[in-house]
Amino acid sequence: MRIAEIFYSVQGEGSLVGVPSVFVRTSGCNLRCSWCDTPYTSWNPEGNHMSTSEILDRAAEFGAARHVVLTGGEPMIAPGIVELSEGLHERGMHITVETAGTVFAPVACDLMSISPKLSNSTPDGVFKAQHERLRLQPDVLRKLMASYDYQLKFVIAREDDIDEVRSVVLELNAPSSKVILMPEGISAEVLARRGVWLAEICKQYGFRLSPRLHVDLYGNRRGV
Ligand code: SF4
Repeated sequence: MRIAEIFYSVQGEGSLVGVPSVFVRTSGCNLRCSWCDTPYTSWNPEGNHMSTSEILDRAAEFGAARHVVLTGGEPMIAPGIVELSEGLHERGMHITVETAGTVFAPVACDLMSISPKLSNSTPDGVFKAQHERLRLQPDVLRKLMASYDYQLKFVIAREDDIDEVRSVVLELNAPSSKVILMPEGISAEVLARRGVWLAEICKQYGFRLSPRLHVDLYGNRRGV
């Protein structure tokens, strides 16, 4: 499969924030979010092809790591993702899959980190129609939620987004304890500003607020 990068860092988002983890980032995505923070996996996919055994060997080089994050791009469309997840599972790794939740694959996974895309993600231009058609797939979301331990992680750019989040959560009948809101932004200043009003919304609805720790610690850089 095509791999954009493999690196060792701490999880920056969601319920496992701060946990040292190996990140395997696949290249290629079926969506084109306007604010995509990894355009080198979506708008302009980069990376070399690696076999499953090459990826497993690389992931094993980070001795202390017990957690691995399969991310992208969209890892669920990567050829060989099921085989890779099973290989990591056999090695005793805790596996998080970070997905937009538009495609189901029977991966081995301990935490399905689902990030359904709101209308704030829709780009102008030639990809608009495809993105809008694909970005929310309620049947796929329900199947992922029924099959795995999961979190629903929404990227929030503006206060209006909350009505959309509540409508998706209601449609999916998801408990608020599984819902995590995260500010959109690639600078610590923007994240801090949006985090302040987002915290009030989380208090109001019982959602959880997530930082983007990797941006706070390292800035908007690759491989961290
Ligand atoms: S789903 Fe993720 S990788 Fe794909 S375009 Fe959106 S933010 Fe980028």
